[in-house]
Amino acid sequence: MGEAHAAALQLGQVPQPSSFEGAAPAFHPAREALLVRRPEGLHCPAGGFFIDPWQRVERAVITHGHADHARAGHTHYLTHRDGVAILKARLGEQIAIEGLDYGKVLRVGEVDLSLHPAGHILGASQVRLARRGEVWVISGDYRVEADASCAAFEPVECDVFISESTFGLPIYRWEPQARVMAQIVEWWQHNAAAGKCSVLYTYALGKAQRLAMALPEGPILVHPAVDQMHRCYRRAGRPVPESPVWDVQARVPRGALILAPPASADSRAMARVGEREDAFVSGWMQLRGLRRRRALDRGFALSDHADWPGLLQAIRASAAQRVMVTHGQVPALVRHLCELGLEASALDAEGWGDETG
Ligand SMILES: [Zn+2]
Ligand SMILES: [Zn+2]
Repeated sequence: MGEAHAAALQLGQVPQPSSFEGAAPAFHPAREALLVRRPEGLHCPAGGFFIDPWQRVERAVITHGHADHARAGHTHYLTHRDGVAILKARLGEQIAIEGLDYGKVLRVGEVDLSLHPAGHILGASQVRLARRGEVWVISGDYRVEADASCAAFEPVECDVFISESTFGLPIYRWEPQARVMAQIVEWWQHNAAAGKCSVLYTYALGKAQRLAMALPEGPILVHPAVDQMHRCYRRAGRPVPESPVWDVQARVPRGALILAPPASADSRAMARVGEREDAFVSGWMQLRGLRRRRALDRGFALSDHADWPGLLQAIRASAAQRVMVTHGQVPALVRHLCELGLEASALDAEGWGDETG
């Protein structure tokens, strides 16, 4: 019995053969790479599946629910168990999807596939591929600073590590979450004392739940898109506090804080909020210029990605001799890794690269 069967039994479901297990591709020479670049995305020839493909494929392993990684239109999806509700909410209840627990091994074709916490958002995984003693790990998006909103990043030793590099420049160094939260609270209290509302622009998936869990009690309203993701987190057992959904017809109480996605910034609903201060929470806020261009009152640099020291820490912990760098600041990180004596190169993953900093 395969791992998926076992997982299904544990969940009390009728066991069905995993659509991933069955895929037995033709013999592949031992020297063939475990992952290759195809027009559709990163492909594992020996397993017959893709990882976070940007074009439609038969079998897609999805590292996490952000839009650039989890796209609609694939025939079969596989992701971490906690990501299933998120993917269904975003791509449709009808998608064919299997959930896998961290650390469980699924045999797919000639490859042993397992998922490991990436610490990025709920259900985010690094994907480990093993075949005849050779191990590759593809990081997906990852964050090394732990918090209560998702499983903490776990280093996985491998021969080849494929790393993202969204913030792969030495200028990116995050302050600890607690310190950024204290700054946010101070800003909120200051606005409330002046009789104003505070609007915190945040990505609806991941960052918003991280904020909601770390902010103190107070009048907090959430945009419907944020509320939808809050529910997915609660269903997975993460205690995201209940907050009223922001009703655009109703008056927003003075001193309230609204968690809203950046896309709502110029909406008519937002214009009705009344006297308010706006701030954006993102790693990109470490760049002053960006803050000015977005005409924001404030920016708070809190990211769901690793900063420069975090990237290097994760790469070191993988013990990989070969590192491939995907989306983000690719040349800078590749150059630095080569200087450290690693065999580093760029791997073009054109479909990835989000603003979800
Ligand atoms: Zn992401
Ligand atoms: Zn991404």
